[in-house]
Amino acid sequence: MDELHYQIDLLTALNHKLKDRETMYQLICETSQNAFIFYDFTKKHIEVLGSWNSFFNFQVEDVKDLNVIVDCTEDKFMIPMKELLFLEKSGKDLDSGECCLADHKTWIEIKVSIKYDEGHNPLNKTIRIQNITHGKIQKDELLYMAYYDGLTGLYNRNKFVKVLSEWIKKAVNNEIISVMFVDIDGFRKINDGMGMIVGDELVQQFGQFLNEFNSDDVIISHFTSDIFCIAIYDPCGSRSVEYIYNAIEDRITKPFLLSDRRELTMTVSYGVAEYPEAATTAVELINYAEIVMFRSKKNGKGSIQYFNAKILDDFLQNVVIEHKLKEAIAIHNFTVCYQPQYSVKTHALRGIEALIRWQDLDGTMVSPSVFIPIAEKNGLIISIGDWIIEESIKTYADWKQRYRYAFVLSINISAIQYRKRDFIPKLLSVLKKYNIECKDIELEITESVLIEDFDDVVQKMLTLRDYGIHVSLDDFGTGFSSLSYLKGLPINTLKIDKSFIDSVTKDEASNIIVNSIITMAQKLGFEIIAEGVETREQYDYLKGIGCNTIQGFLLGKPKTYEEMEALLSRE
Ligand code: C2E
Ligand code: CA
Ligand code: CA
Repeated sequence: MDELHYQIDLLTALNHKLKDRETMYQLICETSQNAFIFYDFTKKHIEVLGSWNSFFNFQVEDVKDLNVIVDCTEDKFMIPMKELLFLEKSGKDLDSGECCLADHKTWIEIKVSIKYDEGHNPLNKTIRIQNITHGKIQKDELLYMAYYDGLTGLYNRNKFVKVLSEWIKKAVNNEIISVMFVDIDGFRKINDGMGMIVGDELVQQFGQFLNEFNSDDVIISHFTSDIFCIAIYDPCGSRSVEYIYNAIEDRITKPFLLSDRRELTMTVSYGVAEYPEAATTAVELINYAEIVMFRSKKNGKGSIQYFNAKILDDFLQNVVIEHKLKEAIAIHNFTVCYQPQYSVKTHALRGIEALIRWQDLDGTMVSPSVFIPIAEKNGLIISIGDWIIEESIKTYADWKQRYRYAFVLSINISAIQYRKRDFIPKLLSVLKKYNIECKDIELEITESVLIEDFDDVVQKMLTLRDYGIHVSLDDFGTGFSSLSYLKGLPINTLKIDKSFIDSVTKDEASNIIVNSIITMAQKLGFEIIAEGVETREQYDYLKGIGCNTIQGFLLGKPKTYEEMEALLSRE
């Protein structure tokens, strides 16, 4: 009897526990965002639970009713949906899949869990339906961001490299793949001068135009800022570099119309590298196309350049120089030479021009004409320029103090240095440090400085003039040299470029140019220095037409510190 009571108590307790669990599961189902279908295989009983009504507006009484869910599914998902819903046996005990409903918006995930008896016959199954639309959108957005450029909607660099690599893999029958780098000229100026929104709009419109070439065999990508890259698989006819180049050139002869109704014209530079001739990997092809694009920019805006080995060699050599230059800066491995400038009238030393020298650690002298442009490109010119200013002023101060006669120090200033906001204050502080008066210093700048914001450049010259620092226009005649702009420039000296001096006694045109430069400079009150004077004949001729100062190998090559010491002690 006791045993029976005990069993009854036990069963009652278990019953309570089961009831509690059932209530708990019910609660979980009801508060869940998911819908559940529970199907008992033996009783053929089907039940829906959870947020069923938020998914479907029909009831399920028989297992066949699940077909209505299949009917509510987008066509291409109908078969997998049916398989999942009517699954009776599964290799694993859980099967799942993602489907889009017929509204083409809602994404659901179906998970099926089947319980089996010991003989592996299905007992019951639970199907969970979860709304995954939100996550799906986020995933699509992430996928989009990973492969597309937000501004233009074109492929981004990642996707471009991916497709190009796939093309290279499939290009077996001597097929060619052209990679064309397309870069808008002077984009920084457009961005700085007209604002980034205008810059973006231009890039967008140009991107849209390029997208017209998009096809199975032509991919267009927006890499960054103003840089686009196009790849053409097995090019020919309207899918060729020449065709696309001509079409772009044709388009950009007409202005782009901006949303504020302004019109904007632009030029573009192109670089082309082809598989397999130039390189056999996607990254190399892109890099080489970029390298030759830079060369095409040098050749003049709006030009196209095809890959050749010489361009790559030059580039690699520049990379080596750049690397060594960084080392040289770190260990201050530079010296300064000084070239004398003489007054034609008095034969006195009028000034000395500081010229940087760099002897590489392996002993080779690298010409400043080679390394200064590299240093200008990568910004190293600022530290090099700071060094030469300090070093030459320090030496000059020492010579001035010891030799006590009047001659000026000319320092070459790169456009990049000149443009820096703190250029003048830094120079003044060095002058102060070595107790040098402003009037003893002359800055040699080239016309490239004037290409930037003219008013800014002139303003800085006026400030320099206020301090009494002289400004000399170097390499005069080689830049854009409109004589008319000269009259507005607060400069003191014009240096006629060596190229004119070389032919002044031989060639009628140079003769006329030099004569008119000197006449005009006299009228405007500029001093004239002829540079690169190598022969007596040139000297006499220049003297005859009123040139004030001569600099050149004839009167003295650039001198080392010791050689200059010797010269100064003799003067
Ligand atoms: P630059 O300012 O026009 O300097 C004159 C160049 O012509 C110097 O070359 C000088 O050695 C050379 N030269 C002078 N007279 C004669 C001559 O009679 N015949 C020949 N064949 N050459 C002559 P260098 O020193 O090789 O400098 C080349 C250029 O590198 C300079 O041209 C200047 O643009 C740049 N540079 C040199 N030193 C500096 C520097 O400290 N800072 C900056 N920013 N640029 C520098
Ligand atoms: Ca110079
Ligand atoms: Ca010069």
